[in-house]
Amino acid sequence: MARAYNFSPGPAALPESVLRQAQSDMLEWGDAGASIVEISHRGPEFMQIAAQTEADLRTLLAVPDDYAVLFVPGGATTQQALIALNFASEGDAVDYVVSGHWGKTALKQLTPAVRLNIAASGEADGYHTIPARDSWQLTPGAAYVHITANETIHGVEFRPAWGNPAPDVGDVPLFADFSSSIASEPLDISRYALIYAGAQKNLGPVGISVVIVRRDLLERAGQPRAHMFNYKAQLENDSMLNTPPTWNWYLLGLTVKWMLGEGGTDEFDRRSDVKSMLLYSTIDGSGGFYRNDVDASVRSRMNVPFFLADEALNDAFLSGAREAGLIGLKGHRVLGGMRASIYNAMPVEGVQALVGYMQEFQKRHG
Ligand SMILES: *Cc1c(COP(=O)(O)O)cnc(C)c1O
Repeated sequence: MARAYNFSPGPAALPESVLRQAQSDMLEWGDAGASIVEISHRGPEFMQIAAQTEADLRTLLAVPDDYAVLFVPGGATTQQALIALNFASEGDAVDYVVSGHWGKTALKQLTPAVRLNIAASGEADGYHTIPARDSWQLTPGAAYVHITANETIHGVEFRPAWGNPAPDVGDVPLFADFSSSIASEPLDISRYALIYAGAQKNLGPVGISVVIVRRDLLERAGQPRAHMFNYKAQLENDSMLNTPPTWNWYLLGLTVKWMLGEGGTDEFDRRSDVKSMLLYSTIDGSGGFYRNDVDASVRSRMNVPFFLADEALNDAFLSGAREAGLIGLKGHRVLGGMRASIYNAMPVEGVQALVGYMQEFQKRHG
């Protein structure tokens, strides 16, 4: 059976070469006498994989030395809970900018011990824009400002107008959820105090997250919490406070290595431009048959939600897409319609096939 072009939002497509490598390593890794999933995380084989993965990720993202890199179990939502516990003390103000569903989810992870300030929200506008920076109500002395670099469901991303994509928030540490756009373009990490990403969109499989944090922040007391939820303790224990998700970590390592081999973030930046422009121009050029409602200045290059003018055609669109070898296009239940997620592992040819199908579908039904 041929593999389809997979536009799934997450868990999402992995590069075929990564899957083939994993397949061949499944029975035995190197000459370990067993697979990666069967050996100790503290043994020399896995410690080597962990060290290489960190080194490769540091190269890929140009992570400065004064930033720690953690590989922790759980998803982005788990980190949303842990960042507040680790970096905001009881009574501290925390500023959140909400530009879509995941920014809103982040609010739900806060304990009542911190003072939540929603500095700006695009909700009243249906998340079609990001409120202008000069309208943000930031709290002087806040523990941090939190943004979602790319909103995976609403298709809204901080783009170059925002300083590509870090907004200026002065001296307050800027925290950013990069789950669905990490490694899609070169980043100036030094403009952030903390970046986190669940792996299953652009970095590998679900079950593991990456946290990149300026080391001085790890000295903050935070709130009372279990040792297991302490980022500093994770760092001091090589992200192995308990048995880590070794298979996921290993797959993440293969994916990062693949990205480096493809040309790194400069190349994925270029491809993301090509892919997203193909899709948006097809939608905008369809005379209203297809529609994307997001303001052009903040349209996501990773997740492209779109709607058919005649929603009664949705099922026909999806089943025809499947027959054409295009899967994962059904929109999130929050929005309905369609969504094409075009992360780094999606080749330009996959998007060409999608827009070809969209144009043909329009000819048949328009
Ligand atoms: C998917 C996603 C999340 C949630 O990730 P989980 O791993 O399911 O917790 C949070 N933020 C963003 C931007 C996402 O894309």
